[in-house]
Order: sequence, then structure tokens, then C-alpha cells
Amino acid sequence: MSAPQPAWLTEGAPHVWRPYCQMKTAPAPLAVARTQGARLILEDGRELVDGIASWWTACHGYNHPHIREAVERQLSLAPHIMFGGLAHEPAYRLAARLAALLPGDLDHVFFAESGSVSVEIAMKMALQYWINRGVAGRTRFLAFAGGYHGDTLATMTVCDPDEGMHSLFAGVLPAQHIAALPVDTASEAALDALLARKGSEIAAIVVEPRVQGAGGMLFHDDVVLARLRKAADAHGVLLIFDEIFTGFGRTGDLFVCQGSGVVPDIVTLSKSLTGGTLPLSAAIASRRVFDAFWSDDAGAALMHGPTYMGNPLACAAANASLDLFETGAWRADVARLERGMAEGLAPLRDAPGVVDVRTLGAIGVVEFDTPVDIGGLCARFVAEGVWIRPMGKVVYLTPPYITSDVELERLTGAMRKVLGGG
Ligand SMILES: *Cc1c(COP(=O)(O)O)cnc(C)c1O
Repeated sequence: MSAPQPAWLTEGAPHVWRPYCQMKTAPAPLAVARTQGARLILEDGRELVDGIASWWTACHGYNHPHIREAVERQLSLAPHIMFGGLAHEPAYRLAARLAALLPGDLDHVFFAESGSVSVEIAMKMALQYWINRGVAGRTRFLAFAGGYHGDTLATMTVCDPDEGMHSLFAGVLPAQHIAALPVDTASEAALDALLARKGSEIAAIVVEPRVQGAGGMLFHDDVVLARLRKAADAHGVLLIFDEIFTGFGRTGDLFVCQGSGVVPDIVTLSKSLTGGTLPLSAAIASRRVFDAFWSDDAGAALMHGPTYMGNPLACAAANASLDLFETGAWRADVARLERGMAEGLAPLRDAPGVVDVRTLGAIGVVEFDTPVDIGGLCARFVAEGVWIRPMGKVVYLTPPYITSDVELERLTGAMRKVLGGG
């Protein structure tokens, strides 16, 4: 039925351990030869419109010439330079630009390579903030049901208990406080009560602001963030915004911490930071957090330094991506995609099993009453010429911002056809 597989796939498949995958039963992956714009071009010549932007990274589309030129230029100058004791322009320029873009005094940028590691660093900063200030016992975190902050061991503890596999790893992972987001007065009172009882053992509150992504594309109002800021201040705990998914325009604001008017003490960024070209992340601390490490005591320093920290190629890509954001064109594109998805997905409200259809910025979500058959749906979407990979109960779109109206119609049309139930 399908075209023969390329040799590299059949030879490599027994050796590649794939992500989130029961290797025994999962369908074979699709072989991609190259990417262009909003499209994946398969080895067999088929072209798919990418509705996921490679896990929310390729915000400007693939192979953007401005980013490619910047990376090529940097590759000819220096591919990598250790960050201990040495400095280079791409990282230093990027840090200054991020500090200028972020609100308040979120001014101190610590680079890493992946989102999970930047969350680990933010958690470590929060723990040591209290140690350095001579406050004992603030060793735990408060996070939220529906949250996702990464797959490494410490970040698993602040994920939703199911997503973070808390029961599977009970006894291995330290137990954190997992609460409901304060979306109404009852949950706000419950959060306040929890903080009144346990606040003195909590180093920081960790939240994905405005949209909980991997937990199911769950949206909440900015008033929730204002409540968290208020509760954090009332109980003297730090507030960490994980903007790895929401950052760089995805929800319609460049950052939620800027658009919502609620400024955290630490923010994490990754996914779209390099426009989806190279792995890079950052944990960015406010002056208050940074100042707790500023000391004549060497022991008060942040003892962290990933080998590829501040990689020049990745930072060059991120600077080029920021150039593209500076043109402002993304705003109109995100608004256009939001309208297109709202219209294109609306008919699915009446489809079998659908409990909600929602859009925000360049995020379009169709939620079902039960978990969907991911492999089966992926195959049907591929037959319609689109790449859409559902997650749990949601089938969603997070397309590149440059996705054309015609390409967007291909995505929403495929959703209507495959999910519409006739
Ligand atoms: C993807 C994601 C992470 C983890 O990033 P990785 O680069 O996969 O380690 C953490 N937090 C949020 C909100 C994410 O969406």
C-alpha cells in the first residue's frame, strides 16, 4: 500500500528509541526529507502542511532565509565556544535583547539547551534564593493540575500528577503541592488556605501562564495570574512563569508576562526562541532573585553551567528570530490565524464526542470527551495532506505564523473532514 521505506529508516529503526512511544505497537514514523515554509516534504515526495510547527517551535516557518543566513554566518565564525570564562557576541546581544523585551526587571539571563533544563535551573534558583537569604525550610514547590514543565526528574514533580507519572515514580520523586488553578473564588480560597498552612515550606509557585499546553491546551484568564502574584506576595514565595510554550507570540502577546501585566520573579523560555532551528532555552531572573546570589561569598554563586550553554549558532538563530519579531508582522499573522481557526473549527462543535472548540492566538483546539486514537487520526490526517498530532483528549493546531490562508484551510478542512463524523 505505502511506498518502500528509505534504507536509512529500515536500518536505523531498530536502534532509535522514539519519544513517548510504546516501541512494540506504535506505527512507523513518517520519513521526512526536508522542510519548507509551513510544509514537511516526505521522502516519497508527498507534502504535508504542518499544523504543529514541530512541537511549537517553527514560529516563522521552516528554513526562513534570515535565520539561515545568520546561522551560516555564525557557523563560519565559530560553531561553539565554552561559556565559562569566555564571551561571544551572539549570546551577549541576545541576553540584552531579551532583558529589554521582557517586562519589569527580568534582566538576568541564564542560558541552557532545553526547556526542561531551563525549568530545572529556575527551580534551583528559587531554592538557592532562600538558602542564600538565610531562610531555611523552603524546599518545595507549588504547581498546578493540568501543568506540564518537562520530562526530567525535577520537572516531572511539578507536572500534573498523571503527566508527571507521580504514581509510577512514587518514592523516587519528591512530592510537591499540586493545586487547582485559582479560576474562581472557591479555588482561590483553597489556594490561600494551602499557602497559609504550607507557605513557609514553599520556595516558589510554578505555572504555565494563560495556556497549559501539553496538559491539554487548557486556557485560563489573566485574572488567575494576578491572583497567583497576589498570593505569592502575601505568603512571600517566588513566582515562576514557564513561558516555554506561550512565549514568542503564540497566545497573541509576545510574552504573557508582558501582555497580562503580571510579572513573575523568574521566566523560562525555549521552543520558539530560535524560531525552531536549534535547541536553546533560558531562565531569566528578576533583580530581586539575582541580588540574592550577588555576594563576596563564592558559595552563594549559582553552580550551574551546561556544556553547550549559550551556543553561538543557537543564539545567532535566536537573534535573527527576534529581528523577525521586531518587524511586527507576526501580530497580524497570529490574529489572522486566530480568525481562520475560529471560523474553520466552529462547525466541529456539533461533531460526535466533541466537548469544546476553542482558539487563542495561534492555538486552535478541539477537545473530546475521551482520549483520542492518536496513531489512527495521524494516518487519516496524513491522507488529507496535513501533519496534525493529537495529544490526550485534544486535537489541536499550533501552525507556524507564516501559514497561508490556503494552507490554514487545508488544516481546518482536514480537521472538519476527519473529526466531523460525516
Ligand atoms: C515543551 C515544554 C517544556 C519542556 O521543554 P523541552 O525542551 O522539551 O525540555 C517545559 N515547559 C513547557 C511549558 C513546555 O511546553
